[in-house]
Amino acid sequence: MYSQLYFDYNATTPCDKEVVDSMLPHFHEDFGNPSSSHHPYGWLAKGAVEDATNSIAKNLGIAPSSLIYTSGATESINMVLKGVARKMQSHGKHIITTKAEHKAVLDTCAFLEEDGFEISYLDVDSDGLISLETLNKTLRPDTILVSILYANNETGNIQPLEEIAKLIQENGSLLFSDTTQALGKVDLTDVLQIVDFACFSGHKVYGPKGIGLVYIKDNEDGDSLPSFIQGGGQQKKQRGGTINTPLIVGLAKAIELAYSNLEEEHKRMKTFRDKLEAGLLEIELAVSNSKTPKRLPNTVHVSFPYVDGANLLTALSRQIAVSNGSACNSASVEPSHVLTAMGVERSLAYASLRLSIGRYTTEEDIEKAVEIVKDEVSKQREANILWERRA
Ligand code: PLP
Repeated sequence: MYSQLYFDYNATTPCDKEVVDSMLPHFHEDFGNPSSSHHPYGWLAKGAVEDATNSIAKNLGIAPSSLIYTSGATESINMVLKGVARKMQSHGKHIITTKAEHKAVLDTCAFLEEDGFEISYLDVDSDGLISLETLNKTLRPDTILVSILYANNETGNIQPLEEIAKLIQENGSLLFSDTTQALGKVDLTDVLQIVDFACFSGHKVYGPKGIGLVYIKDNEDGDSLPSFIQGGGQQKKQRGGTINTPLIVGLAKAIELAYSNLEEEHKRMKTFRDKLEAGLLEIELAVSNSKTPKRLPNTVHVSFPYVDGANLLTALSRQIAVSNGSACNSASVEPSHVLTAMGVERSLAYASLRLSIGRYTTEEDIEKAVEIVKDEVSKQREANILWERRA
């Protein structure tokens, strides 16, 4: 274990020990294949999966038939976007999304563009929100699907989905919302009633990695979304392949734990988040990028003018795990597409930090994190001639 403070819960969360315990029997003892219908090994596994599905559905206030297991949110997003595109292409080939989506949506949309679909990318304002008026103007009779990120993974800003859904439904289009970051942080009951599709990921809610869900509102007959993984006929033929009993049991446990004290944990997170944000905003000229009235209770996103973002991250990485939301690879470093879509100037977008807190964050961690960031920002600025010369 590293001695660093962990402030990157939006990237991933540790698997809760209760979740690990719930999964263990299904690796070695109750290891049957849920599709083996002729012996107790299979029956036990099938029963465990059914119990898990019922538990998830109950916690989320939805029908068990609306859930399809995948390997994670990226696969779920691919399944929804490509599935709707394939199923609805005779009605139209126009899809709307936003410039501030997760890359899993943007890259899948780019793939569909190559396949002849037309994608409209909506601008977002300085809070990362879309304009309802622009959405209304962009909707067309041939718009088959609108894909809107519910809670932004970088800023935590939440879109007003109720109003968005009304416009989309009036137009007769389908609505998909990437709800990956919201699960376990905010109550999604109302959201799941208004969207046609949503997605979830185990590792964002103290569950295991490699398991996720597609939510399909009307899926009693199992024909609402075609599979793009054929073989075996599992999951009503909507996603082929042996289903992963241990991970499904773990996901259900993770969701059960999150929902057992959603409100209390929301309050605790929000208090800590506000303390963290207030501390960071004491830094001269610091600006917050998460300002919407509705936002995730765990996410703080702040920019620090006159700071070299890369140097800041490197310096911080010795003491605290944070993210700047940039897509980095060894050859190039690009500023966050979310921040640039919000109109944040490139150099400021680089000099930005996302701090996301979670179940194991303590008040003491918050205090330490504020001091560490304050100290590093001031060191970076001392080394910056422009800081001295600022007006
Ligand atoms: N969508 C959002 C908003 C996310 O934050 C993530 C994870 O970073 C994903 C999708 C992809 O999730 P997964 O890692 O389960 O593929």
